[in-house]
Amino acid sequence: MKQRTLYVETMGCQMNVLDSELVVGQLRAEGYELTSDMLGADVVLLNTCSVREHAEDKVLSRLGSLKKPKSARDDMVVGVIGCMAERDPDGIVKKMPHVDLICGPGELNKIPALVDDVRRTRNRAVALSQAMSRRSTAIERSLEYDSVEALDLSREQGVDGRSSQAYVRVQRGCDKFCTFCVVPFTRGPERSRPPGQIVNEAQMLIDRGVREITLLGQTVNSYVSQEEGRAVRFSDLLARLDSLDGLDRIRFVTSYPGDFGDDILEAMRDLPKVCEYLHLPVQSGSDAVLKRMRRQYTAGQFVDLIGRAREYVPDLTLASDFIVGFCGETDAEFDETVALVERSAFKNIFVFKYSQRPGTVAEKRSDDDIPDAVKRDRNIRLLKLQEEVSIATNRTMIGRAVEVLVEGHSKRAIKAQEAEQTRGEEATAEASGQLVGRTRTDRIVVFPGEISLAGRLVMVRVTAATALTLHGELATSGNGDETPFQRGPIALRIGG
Ligand code: SF4
Repeated sequence: MKQRTLYVETMGCQMNVLDSELVVGQLRAEGYELTSDMLGADVVLLNTCSVREHAEDKVLSRLGSLKKPKSARDDMVVGVIGCMAERDPDGIVKKMPHVDLICGPGELNKIPALVDDVRRTRNRAVALSQAMSRRSTAIERSLEYDSVEALDLSREQGVDGRSSQAYVRVQRGCDKFCTFCVVPFTRGPERSRPPGQIVNEAQMLIDRGVREITLLGQTVNSYVSQEEGRAVRFSDLLARLDSLDGLDRIRFVTSYPGDFGDDILEAMRDLPKVCEYLHLPVQSGSDAVLKRMRRQYTAGQFVDLIGRAREYVPDLTLASDFIVGFCGETDAEFDETVALVERSAFKNIFVFKYSQRPGTVAEKRSDDDIPDAVKRDRNIRLLKLQEEVSIATNRTMIGRAVEVLVEGHSKRAIKAQEAEQTRGEEATAEASGQLVGRTRTDRIVVFPGEISLAGRLVMVRVTAATALTLHGELATSGNGDETPFQRGPIALRIGG
């Protein structure tokens, strides 16, 4: 019998990447085989993001291209899953009536049953978590939590046993209700997973060869779970994971600046596996804008926090997110953001032009009044400034040896390989020999080496630097290391 094929496309944050991985695991267990041919697949699932209008437009365009193949095949299933499905199910169906499956991020454990339902009945299947609202009681939340937890507990099926890096969800949802953000409406209130489950999942991943774990949460540092009547904080969770044998690195994203206790900084300083990297979205350098965004900190408090973080963890690198052109942002307010970027020495930043999202407080109460040309100009200015900062800080790495967890061939090498193979030739040694990996501080490093190094920790001597990438060569001594090479030769955007 011909095996049924599945195409999954993921947009948005790491949380969606993990959700897709788990959905694929569930459907593989039902006999589906992954394909890269969207138009020819038996089941097409688009895992969507609602954070910006542009991301939703892309989903609609993808769905539009599926109209024809779908009308030619009775047995094809087209599904929209994730945040856009939760936010606007009626709008999707109205614009794209050929969609026959809609499933919000809190209901993804039901995907195999929903797909089956559509195939049997040819009726549209819908699963949404609209019970999750700001007014949910604690009991309602925990009931809701029990149902969504099932997706993470399906993990056994979602690991292919080859990767040395993996995401582990520690928390779902968000309670912050920043005025621009749709996440609390699409992913529901904040729920932290029990620490025992997280540690067990990490152990299962380690047993399958994973060496680096990235803990995911919309505001990951506000994690707290009750255990035998006592609170387990995020720093406690880090300590438990740090004690697992076979694990080399622990990362976490995304942190919320308002909730960042010194206990986490102490954990970063004292626990050897916790990497010296923080993704700490500040969004604006202007107190007035931060207030309008309902971020619960000031620019001064943010600057204090990163100063303290660098005292605790001297090698720390920082990344941040900014929204430019938020409702009413004046030139003077934007200049405060520029000043913050100038003084903060971020490793990199992500800059987004404000995009009004339906249902958010900003959409209801404020005008999206900054012209697109101004938003674009501010976006370019901020990125250009950061590029100069990144080049300057990356150049300080030249001559140093850094510990790199090798991920595989670099993108350029993969492209060159594919081009060679299309022409029916062997890949050139030069093209296939470029590897890519990351330092503990999340710097991307490209260097020549054998693919057999994938999944291992190696030392690389940095020889050149651009704003985004360090280039180097394999090193044998750790002289001048960014971090000591102490673990032996084998080792590897969301919220906030
Ligand atoms: S921006 Fe981050 S903290 Fe604010 S509501 Fe959205 S997910 Fe929560």
